Amino acid sequence: MRPEYFDQPCRSALNHVEGMPFEWTLNPYMGCAHRCTFCYVRSFERRADRPSGDAYGRRVRIKPNVAEVLRRELARPSWAREVVVVGAATDPYQPIEGSRRLTRACLEAFVERGNPFGIITRGPLVVRDRDVLAEGSRRARVTVDVSIPTLDPDLWRVTEPGTAPPAARLRAVRLLADAGIRVRVAMAPLLPGLSDRPESLANVVRAARDAGATSVWAGLLYLQAGTREHFLATLDAVWPEERARLEALYAGRAHLPKRVSAPVLARVAELRRDTPRRAGAPDPIEAEHVPEPEPPTFAEQLGLAL
Ligand code: SF4
Repeated sequence: MRPEYFDQPCRSALNHVEGMPFEWTLNPYMGCAHRCTFCYVRSFERRADRPSGDAYGRRVRIKPNVAEVLRRELARPSWAREVVVVGAATDPYQPIEGSRRLTRACLEAFVERGNPFGIITRGPLVVRDRDVLAEGSRRARVTVDVSIPTLDPDLWRVTEPGTAPPAARLRAVRLLADAGIRVRVAMAPLLPGLSDRPESLANVVRAARDAGATSVWAGLLYLQAGTREHFLATLDAVWPEERARLEALYAGRAHLPKRVSAPVLARVAELRRDTPRRAGAPDPIEAEHVPEPEPPTFAEQLGLAL
């Protein structure tokens, strides 16, 4: 079913976040048509009193002015050209980006300023913007994380109803790597007992390295209220015995206990170390020249451009 899209201009483009490995994010859309069953954004939606269950992702907000607002924010004298992660709360390459091109417009704004940025996506559409990503990489640190937690077709279909198949995402990794873009594979989230088995981890890491991924990292399922109910209900409909097992594993907690997660992460670290990158994959483009932030214009100093 096609989601309902609606335009709603934003007042700010950059969001300051806490408790994440980065401080700034940008989301050209809100809501995600990929509707992954495990999406952690469902828990935020629940807290904001918005649909977090089956209706999540059926309505997607488009920020038509996001690139224009971003340009103003990047031009502020107080902006210290920090790394911005695009797509932490939605997929910036979900299908609507094909026609609206707002993610692309935001990347162009970063490139103009030589601002470092990262992208997190499950959308192969990212390859359309190889030209901008390559140019951005010449001016600042740019990283693309393509999420591929499993190659298992059944698991993919059940848990990620709206995303492109893993093979299409691997192809995207290959095309990005071939364009000299620093591209990593994010094995996230790994589902305990479903996608964290040693052979499954090895298959993903091998495929990622064969495609030319510069690195691979992993994160395990995080089940907060909002995500928990929908994820477990989906499992129940297909593999009821898995629901019972996962319910017990996550009883009273959102994160897995370390005794369960640590060996999985250690295994991924070993595989990353021991699995070489595809021979002949180009080295990532390194920033040739990272210019100092341009001095503010007179209008900016007066605040007239804000
Ligand atoms: S692609 Fe990412 S943001 Fe979109 S539903 Fe899946 S996990 Fe959530």
